[in-house]
Amino acid sequence: MSMESDIKFIDENGLRIDGRRPDELRHIKIEAGVLENADGSAYVEFGKNKVLAAVYGPRECHPRHLQNPSKAIIQCKYNMMTFSVSDRKRPGPDRRSVEISKIISEALESVVQTELFPRASIDVYMEILQANAGTRCAGLVAASVALADAGVPMKDIIPAIAVGKADGKLLLDLNKEEDNYGQADVPMAIIPKTGEVVLLQMDGHMTQEEFETALDMGIKACYEIYELQKDALKRRYAVETPEVEE
Ligand code: ADP
Repeated sequence: MSMESDIKFIDENGLRIDGRRPDELRHIKIEAGVLENADGSAYVEFGKNKVLAAVYGPRECHPRHLQNPSKAIIQCKYNMMTFSVSDRKRPGPDRRSVEISKIISEALESVVQTELFPRASIDVYMEILQANAGTRCAGLVAASVALADAGVPMKDIIPAIAVGKADGKLLLDLNKEEDNYGQADVPMAIIPKTGEVVLLQMDGHMTQEEFETALDMGIKACYEIYELQKDALKRRYAVETPEVEE
């Protein structure tokens, strides 16, 4: 975003560096229940992004001073592995991961029925194994599926996607080059049943008209991702059903 460059993002056929059309998602893979020792888990790929999410709880909240007597709190931890980016990333939390953890936790609070579990904590870990732009969205998609896999009562599951701008064109689901050297990046997430937007950020610049179109493109893609999330949970359920013997 910060470094505008001479890179040509759209070729003469209207296709992007990775061959996609402007409104085309990267390949998305979602698998629920991939970890034995977490209450719920999910593995998600958005193109080259690889994310693992694990959920524990609802369980007793530590540290205790964070307990809320009227509802559970959702403690999210987004973390990039040192090997997730091309230069080794310094391990441990930084401002960016604290921010992402906070916005993801706020989005999840809009669907998790926290009022059913006073004083408890629901802990959500997102580990970015490989990053290629859009990791906060992939993290939230994985976290939603992992929460459902854990059996945490929710009003809905949350899909998320980023829409950006490069070469003056709106592009769905930015890859790393488009994100780093493009003109804008707008990650978003919705509650599909109501259409409510529960995460919306903007890095860079768009006109109001572009922003409205970007929002439409992103929301449409969110409904596609929602179907993939539900499919992943259905597949998980089908595998887990024991055969009934007559
Ligand atoms: P998001 O991953 O949600 O798009 P950003 O826009 O902050 O979040 O980051 C875009 C991309 O830039 C990341 O997905 C990753 O590929 C890369 N990136 C972010 N932080 C680092 C870092 N500390 N070192 C190297 N690359 C990074």
